[in-house]
Amino acid sequence: MALIDPFNRTIDYLRVSVTDKCNYRCDYCMPEQGAHPEGRHTEYLDYDELARIIKAFVELGVKKVRITGGEPLVRKGLAGFVSQISPLPGLEDIALSTNAHYLDRESVALKEAGITRANISIDSLNPNLFEKITRGGNLEKVLSGVDAALAAGLTPIKFNMVVMKGTNDQEIEDMVDYGIKKGVEVRFIETMPIGEAGISLMDQHYPMAKIMARIKAHVKTDLIPCTGKSHDGPSKNFLIKGTHTKIGVISAVSEHFCESCNRVRLTARGVLALCLGQEDSVDLRTPLREGISDEGLKQLIVDAMTKKPEKHFFNENVHNIEFRQMVSLGG
Ligand code: SAM
Ligand code: SF4
Repeated sequence: MALIDPFNRTIDYLRVSVTDKCNYRCDYCMPEQGAHPEGRHTEYLDYDELARIIKAFVELGVKKVRITGGEPLVRKGLAGFVSQISPLPGLEDIALSTNAHYLDRESVALKEAGITRANISIDSLNPNLFEKITRGGNLEKVLSGVDAALAAGLTPIKFNMVVMKGTNDQEIEDMVDYGIKKGVEVRFIETMPIGEAGISLMDQHYPMAKIMARIKAHVKTDLIPCTGKSHDGPSKNFLIKGTHTKIGVISAVSEHFCESCNRVRLTARGVLALCLGQEDSVDLRTPLREGISDEGLKQLIVDAMTKKPEKHFFNENVHNIEFRQMVSLGG
């Protein structure tokens, strides 16, 4: 059984946001007062509900799940939840997106539970700038989280850096060097006009072509194109010749990668979001709590695929984009 959308794309990748809360407040992502100062967390799906939805997706052909947020590690019992879903037959890969703050204490448990690999967000290697961008983050904790994740084997790890013109673009070369030192892939992400700062992020937009030119001048060697593995997603990848380190650039705005989109997103409140840049979505929580059968749930998911849009409109319609919470959709 496979999930196929109206544009003949096979959907085999589900991103699951387990919470929209976070211990950090990256200014492009999270309001300063946090996701829910009024405290609406009881609306979250519990782990059994999340596991039931994931099981339905896996039975429909999903092979890869990414646990994200918000910051997934602020939700208690995450490793237990991972061990609930990791035995599902057909589920090949359970990846994690994290800011790494808690990885020093959680990496071993997560690995044992079944997390295969981690993407770690680091926007600066300068402790003061890191603290400023994340509004209070602790770079030292993050770097020891990186080392713990490497030691526990949550690999291959990827570093994600959101490049913001005039804020952290001067650190592109430092991030490349850090990736080479750790033997880890580094991915540079263009700011997307969603999340806390919405379209004002377009002012900080730093185009992919310039990022590539800077890296090429810095490494003084060839960048060998190597995109193509299923883990790469929308990233264009290059191996730095003479190293084990790849760099990737993710350009949601300058270039569409929608024609090869293979993913949908589940929010912590049980909304199935069919595109990061569009509003199309289906509520799964209400039918779940009203007692829908397993077969009924699967049919709901199959029907939802007919709503998946052909592409996002970040570039065409930047000024019409409604404020959308990246923390709900999980990136
Ligand atoms: N807290 C985890 C983390 O930071 O990796 C997981 C959730 S976070 C929402 C997932 C990814 O989305 C991060 O790499 C973050 O940098 C990225 N992100 C958030 N808002 C963004 C925006 N407006 N443009 C581009 N990337 C964004
Ligand atoms: Fe938190 Fe990740 Fe958003 Fe930063 S990008 S505020 S770490 S959810």
